[in-house]
Amino acid sequence: MIGDLVRPELQKLVPYVSHQIPYRIKLDANESPFELPESIRKKLADYFLKGPGLNIYPDNESVELRKTLAKYWNVNPDEVVVGTGSNQLIQLIITVFVGKGEKVVYPWPSFSMYKINTLIAGGEPVGVLLDKDKDFGFDTDNFIAAVKEERAKVAFLCNPNNPTGGMISSEDIERILKECSNSIIVVDEAYAEFCNESVIPLVKKYENLVVLRTFSKAYLLAGARCGYSISGPEIANEINKIRPTYNVSSLTQLIAQMVFEKQEEMQKMIQYLINQRGELEAGLKKIKDVYIYPSCANYVLIKVPKADEISKELEKRGILVRSFPGDPVLYDCIRITVGTKEENDIFLEEFSDIINNF
Ligand SMILES: *Cc1c(COP(=O)(O)O)cnc(C)c1O
Repeated sequence: MIGDLVRPELQKLVPYVSHQIPYRIKLDANESPFELPESIRKKLADYFLKGPGLNIYPDNESVELRKTLAKYWNVNPDEVVVGTGSNQLIQLIITVFVGKGEKVVYPWPSFSMYKINTLIAGGEPVGVLLDKDKDFGFDTDNFIAAVKEERAKVAFLCNPNNPTGGMISSEDIERILKECSNSIIVVDEAYAEFCNESVIPLVKKYENLVVLRTFSKAYLLAGARCGYSISGPEIANEINKIRPTYNVSSLTQLIAQMVFEKQEEMQKMIQYLINQRGELEAGLKKIKDVYIYPSCANYVLIKVPKADEISKELEKRGILVRSFPGDPVLYDCIRITVGTKEENDIFLEEFSDIINNF
């Protein structure tokens, strides 16, 4: 009975489940391995002891945080919208622009939320296949053709792409923005800190561009749920019309602000992880039967026989990685988040032990 009342396009969806399993080392969700700096913890303790408390609603417009972000990126505060993770902004952007039967185009494989949120809106998701035999490289002409042919309302680009790790050059993105001027182009830069490239400067030039950023990866705050969009003021205004009131809690606004102001420490952590990515790749190269896809992010995708069995065995040994059982393209792949040197070394040791004994 309840099922019959549900909108038809939602009936086949299943809830997103992230298993809470005990672990020794967590390399499955691209989180930062680092804890909040102690100075921030102390300020938080102070906030709880002396602050205004949580009986008062948060600042609905996240004014201070938006000012800080706008200054850093050299944009206007009215071009920044803050959400509970960039996931919320993905959903809001699709809700603003995509109606029943309208198309959303994205490269595939990529982040699953583009598809899921399109289905929730009643739109039609169109994945443009990346060529596995060419390291999942992005074909700009092919993508532009798809966006035009489908008359996509929105197109997503994940840069660097999750889970494959590859990049699209800013020049190619600019071509897409020009040639697909009738579509909203969303560039999800969740991992851009690890490649040092961004199309945020292009926001001034292209009114159809939205860039998404998150505090969940490089900025230590996956648990606080904070992300933001940078776009021209028109798109920002449209998102704000439907943004849930008081979406970002006062605690999240405060912590994000404090973390973002620690740029020097953050940049050190980012550089450390970029170096560790190199170390992890070097370690993986020494293991037989492993193919490594080039990565510009804080994870590495590899192809290996018996990927699913290997990840299950790793899990038994307390090491979580991401595998893709049943996926038509990624069934033989594993995505490993770059951790600390100690974590990566333990992973490499256990991983090569498993491969050598399978
Ligand atoms: C992790 C991730 C995000 C971040 O989502 P949040 O809601 O900000 O935690 C966004 N896009 C991609 C591609 C990701 O992998």
